[in-house]
Amino acid sequence: MLHPGTSSVTAGDLTPATAAAIELEESHTAHNYHPLPVVISHGEGAWVTDVDGKRYLDCLAAYSAVNFGHSNPVLVDAARAQLEKITLTSRAFHNDQLGPFVTALAGLAGKDMVLPMNTGAEAVESAIKIARAWGYRVKGVEPDKATIIVADGNFHGRTISIISFSNDPDARNDFGPYTPGFISVPYGDAHALEEAIDENTVAVLIEPIQGEAGIVIPPADYLPRLREITKRRNVLLIADEIQSGLGRTGATFQCDNVGVVPDLYLLGKALGGGIVPISAVVGDADILGVLKPGEHGSTFGGNPLATAVGHAVVRMLGSGEYQERARRLGRVLEDGVRQMLGRGVVDVRAAGLWVGIDIDPQLASGRRVCELLMERGVLAKDTHGSTIRLAPPLVVTAEDLEFAVEQLGAVLDELAAGRVSPVSEEEDTAADLP
Ligand SMILES: *Cc1c(COP(=O)(O)O)cnc(C)c1O
Repeated sequence: MLHPGTSSVTAGDLTPATAAAIELEESHTAHNYHPLPVVISHGEGAWVTDVDGKRYLDCLAAYSAVNFGHSNPVLVDAARAQLEKITLTSRAFHNDQLGPFVTALAGLAGKDMVLPMNTGAEAVESAIKIARAWGYRVKGVEPDKATIIVADGNFHGRTISIISFSNDPDARNDFGPYTPGFISVPYGDAHALEEAIDENTVAVLIEPIQGEAGIVIPPADYLPRLREITKRRNVLLIADEIQSGLGRTGATFQCDNVGVVPDLYLLGKALGGGIVPISAVVGDADILGVLKPGEHGSTFGGNPLATAVGHAVVRMLGSGEYQERARRLGRVLEDGVRQMLGRGVVDVRAAGLWVGIDIDPQLASGRRVCELLMERGVLAKDTHGSTIRLAPPLVVTAEDLEFAVEQLGAVLDELAAGRVSPVSEEEDTAADLP
């Protein structure tokens, strides 16, 4: 399908340094990802540099884990200072960083308590355990009968229990037997969700915006209605803000944008400033307080290195400056991308500095558009075939965003004019999720 004289990302196009680095990695890693053929060795702010010295604008920001930019000097200083003191104590002892961190994070969220973990999936798993224990001990659900309602199209991580309630065949197939106790209902439909609630329902677990599904934004009254329904029916509302939270959508939490306070916030990704993995469940004492010593834990959870960085992240969010940037620059990005509607773009969905762009599948795949963007110095990632997501670090500038929009326009024009092939050598949409 390659047209003569058109460019495509093939092994032959790669520089020796890039080809060698990819070859080495591919020969000894499990192939559970399908990265773009770029090998990054350096990053500063919104820009990264590859092994050949070529610079790229990072429009993925490690799935929003790098909201504050690569090598953010404040965060690197916090990490460096803590590296020289102590990095790990385990929770068998106290450390002097955990207390200040949980106090600051609980304050930011307006809640009583924080359960620190490491990865997003662990925060989700922890919330499932907490909701079940709350159901048996507080709500009075019969033993082993608790159910949790989730939404179709969800992405909450990769563990066995979490993939048990995914609808994505790539995430699920061949990984059974699955964990029971979950019911999935259409996303955005509050009525369907209420219909699914019965006396055994302990929680609703929801992404305020479905990021991996392609920045799917529910109706404005959806979360407020879920809040009203869950309160009335004595069911916990758990907001997975692992990707939507911590500034991305122009607020500390996407829930803030719709005037909703959930029972539990799940945080991760940007909480570690792109430096360390750290996640958290944040909620009030009547819920998080159900956990007793010995019932849950993590060797690295709450370690002083991660909490020192996490505390610096919370302090940065405390000023509101990053949320304001995301709102202001989000409008620049959204306006720019909207001009491409009808020019190869069929739909645009935006919340703060988070934009989902549906490419006309007749023109090219999302993967192909990302390959061509890469050649032009912009890194982005496709999701679910024909959608690309732009989520640059919040430290990006308006000029950077204009550059990204210009490159996207050029890629779409090249494709429409037939100057580049609409397919790459290795069309493949697997492993496009974090
Ligand atoms: C990334 C993500 C997770 C999982 O986080 P990991 O750190 O990859 O385990 C969970 N929920 C949402 C909404 C996410 O975007």
